[in-house]
Amino acid sequence: MKLHVVAFGCQMSSADAGELAAPLLAQGFRAASEPEDADAIILNTCTVRQHAEDRALSLIGRLKPWKDQDDGRVLIVAGCAAQRLGDWIRERFPHVDMVVGAKSIDEYPRLLGDALAGKLGALAGAGGSAAPAGADAAVCAPVTVMRGCNYSCSYCIVPSVRGREVYRPWETVLAQARVKAAAGAREILLLGQTVNSWRGPGPGGKPAKFSDLLRAVSGVEGVRRVRFESPHPRFFDDELIAAMGEVAGAGDHAHLPAQSGSDRVLALMRRNYGGEGFLALASRLRAALPRVELSTDIIVGFPTETDEDFRRTLDLVERLRPAWTYAFKYSPREGTESARALPDDVPEAVKEERLARLNALCDRFAEDALKARVGRTLEVLDENGGYGRTRDGFRVRWTGPARPGELVSVLATGIAKRTLLGECR
Ligand code: SAH
Ligand code: SF4
Repeated sequence: MKLHVVAFGCQMSSADAGELAAPLLAQGFRAASEPEDADAIILNTCTVRQHAEDRALSLIGRLKPWKDQDDGRVLIVAGCAAQRLGDWIRERFPHVDMVVGAKSIDEYPRLLGDALAGKLGALAGAGGSAAPAGADAAVCAPVTVMRGCNYSCSYCIVPSVRGREVYRPWETVLAQARVKAAAGAREILLLGQTVNSWRGPGPGGKPAKFSDLLRAVSGVEGVRRVRFESPHPRFFDDELIAAMGEVAGAGDHAHLPAQSGSDRVLALMRRNYGGEGFLALASRLRAALPRVELSTDIIVGFPTETDEDFRRTLDLVERLRPAWTYAFKYSPREGTESARALPDDVPEAVKEERLARLNALCDRFAEDALKARVGRTLEVLDENGGYGRTRDGFRVRWTGPARPGELVSVLATGIAKRTLLGECR
């Protein structure tokens, strides 16, 4: 029997999809790359923007014929849109066997047993293959350290669908990192909506912070790099910056979502910083970590955003020089403060135009960063034989012997879209 897993949205969604798949893989399911070949499908949804939610809902609809072919098949819909629209999904798509909202993921193994033990057992019996012994982990493996968000950015639906922050215990995080490293992971990606807000009792019950956790994970046998995502600007204290400098990967790239460069818009967004404060953090990171590359998120067309506000965003991006940028058009989300209290008054054509101008600028910085690497020998972690990433997160494809899981030296010789091309001897 085979399992197909799809995740829309962020890396946390992909990591959650991996956790949702684990009990089925333990029952003997194997991965299917295409939905048509699968006996069970897990679809982890996203609701951060309407577009992401629409794509997930459309896929649920398109899976009806797959389900109609054999009612013994199992379709599980999970994640943030499932949290927001659970009852509606159950009613609108009766071919869905189980809906698991993002807040219920910790109870999921029990819920799964209650809802689907019979059906999964029948599939397992029919499939006949034994449970795989200790599946291999990916070379780059995610470990979720916290869930939820205690902030209230006015545009953002995450706090309502994921709830308040919950930190995974120190030992749980380290145990997961050890299991993944023992199964072949060499890079650990620590995940959370505001990942660097992690805190909790550390060794001996003493209070510990994210900087302690980062160092401890980097000390796990087999781990060569640690990254983290998404950090919140507020939690880059001196201890964290010092720890980043000691850990390969962590000190080479930081994702710093700015969202806007206009203080007026940032205040309406309730981001708790202004443009200059944000750039001061970027300068602090660059001064302490000379190798660090920065990336960012920007929203264009936030309610009431004027040409002048947008110009300030372009100014901020010019000064930040991000190596890559995720830029989004504002999408009003039901129940959020901005959707309730502010008009979605920037016309679609203006949002499109601002997005295009912003992307053109960001593409220039991304290209500059890639070009600066051509001709240099880079340390790359081979993820699957000839493909991997540099310490600072640039994708590299190269010719030469395959050494998955190893750090290799690649001479960068060219660029194809956003990937460096190279040679390894
Ligand atoms: N916790 C992270 C962001 C999580 S959401 C942080 O605070 O940085 C990922 C990104 O989606 C955000 O950074 C933002 O740029 C974008 N986003 C969130 N809500 C949005 C909305 N309503 N419309 C457009 N983009 C949005
Ligand atoms: Fe959303 Fe803001 Fe929380 Fe990030 S910090 S998840 S943008 S509310």
